[in-house]
Amino acid sequence: AAYLKAIDAHNAAFNAYVAVTHDQATAMAKASDLKLSQGTAGALEGIPLGVKDLFGTRDVHTQAASNILDGFKPKYESTVTQNLWDDGAVMLGKLNMDEFAMGSSNETSYYGPVINPWKAKGSNMDLVPGGSSGGSAAAVAAHLCAGATATDTGGSIRQPAAFTGTVGIKPTYGRCSRWGVVAFASSLDQAGPIARDVRDAAILLKSMASVDDKDTTSVDLPVPDYEAAIGQSVKGMKIGIPREYRVDGMPEEIEKLWQQGIAILKDAGAEIVDISLPHTKYALPAYYIVAPAEASSNLARYDGVRYGLRVEGRDIADMYEKTRAEGFGKEVQRRIMIGTYVLSAGYYDAYYLKAQKVRTLIKRDFENVFAEGVDTILTPATPSAAFGIADQDMANDPVKMYLNDIFTVTVNMAGLPGISVPAGLNPKGLPLGLQLIGKPFEEETLFRTAAVME
Ligand code: GLN
Repeated sequence: AAYLKAIDAHNAAFNAYVAVTHDQATAMAKASDLKLSQGTAGALEGIPLGVKDLFGTRDVHTQAASNILDGFKPKYESTVTQNLWDDGAVMLGKLNMDEFAMGSSNETSYYGPVINPWKAKGSNMDLVPGGSSGGSAAAVAAHLCAGATATDTGGSIRQPAAFTGTVGIKPTYGRCSRWGVVAFASSLDQAGPIARDVRDAAILLKSMASVDDKDTTSVDLPVPDYEAAIGQSVKGMKIGIPREYRVDGMPEEIEKLWQQGIAILKDAGAEIVDISLPHTKYALPAYYIVAPAEASSNLARYDGVRYGLRVEGRDIADMYEKTRAEGFGKEVQRRIMIGTYVLSAGYYDAYYLKAQKVRTLIKRDFENVFAEGVDTILTPATPSAAFGIADQDMANDPVKMYLNDIFTVTVNMAGLPGISVPAGLNPKGLPLGLQLIGKPFEEETLFRTAAVME
């Protein structure tokens, strides 16, 4: 009740929720009360959570923040959210995001931008919360939920977590089922939590993760008790510092933050080693070929027949065209065009196939350093703190916006787990995050190390 009240009072200021499920929340909370009194409570009994609008929720608003899914309410529940409800969590509503999770600032949403609860010292300027899980990050930061689900295709959990002083983890590809989650780029998409601290993130991921017959890329491995990793020492752990992440023009505050993180881990007894990930500079261009290619294919299903919006036309082809022209926003249309282009005959080999090969090289870079005994890799999460809404530089040049993902996309390209942990404030008083990258299915190491840095 307290969270619903807070949402009713403050959501207008942040635009974090696109739908508030008062009735479901109240009914679920009542059921939780009963279980708590009967002593049959689940691991998350009564914990109120927000859900990114990308997750299919039965009979509840699911539009991926797009007009093309206008009025869509699925008849199914995503596996990840079902896992949370099975453990007793309570759904507060659906959270704003970039349209189809394409963006780094939450400004491509059909529902308008999300406002970051943080402001720079002495300034009243509205800042972006990051994206695409901007609603999830802002809602957690503003206490409009106790935790939230999010997804990360190229940084969409970690970058907004860094911009809002929250914790976000993208688990290893395959750790969480993608079933029932609106697809963006299927070989990169992973669900994960955004939470107020490392412990909460560990508890939520434990519940979200599972093998699932309905997603053949989900992996049949036991899900460890992540919470147990918190408080364990990092003494003797080998932490890699990749020299290629020291990119040109990186602001001093980011370099300083990185050094601070290194010092904390050193003090805690970890061994710091310089490493090289030589193909890092190709990750961003390769990502912006692979992700749009997969997106153009996944988004072909929105044709005005099966879901949501239909704009009538002279004939069926005209109806398709009108529906897609009106239903998809500008950034989504840009991705569809890039993706269709790189997959077309004559360009497939030059772009898509090449990008897939680069992807293998990026993956190998990580395999090599892990084979040399590195346990986890420490990098900045983002190249800057949160920037202003409607930043003209970014609006005029989409590549500038894409550069925000420079430290996060490699992790998706390699399918590895990555966590963003709040690591201090910049001189303007805005939160900054550091990222830890782990070996496949070793999320425990990330929680253990992140807890030391928190
Ligand atoms: N910003 C990246 C993009 O727009 C990543 C998005 C994501 O992780 N969903 O593709």
